[in-house]
Amino acid sequence: MELSEMQRLIKEIYIHHDSRRGVIKTYKWLMSEVEELGVALNRGDSTSISEEAADVLAWLLSVMNLVDLDLEKAFIDKYGGRCPRCGGKPCRCPYREEP
Ligand SMILES: [Zn+2]
Repeated sequence: MELSEMQRLIKEIYIHHDSRRGVIKTYKWLMSEVEELGVALNRGDSTSISEEAADVLAWLLSVMNLVDLDLEKAFIDKYGGRCPRCGGKPCRCPYREEP
C-alpha cells in the first residue's frame, strides 16, 4: 500500500470525525500519539512501538487531509531521493546530536 492510498483510506474512515474536530485539535491528537511513541521507545516493547508508530502516521495523515495536502507528494517534493540540505545520498551534512 502506497502512502497516498493510506491517506485516502484514513480519509474514508475518519474524515467525518476529523472535520468536526478541526485541524488544531487533530494536530494535538497527533502530538499525544508522538508522546506515546516516545514512551513505547523508552520501554523497548516492539509491539507497542509498532502500534504507536501506526497511530502517529494515521494522525499525521488526518492532519494532511484537513489541510487538503498529499503527504506522499510533500515527502517526494522535499526529499526526492536525497538529503534536501546537501543534496547527498548518503547525506554529507555535519552530524548533529539534537534538533
Ligand atoms: Zn545532508
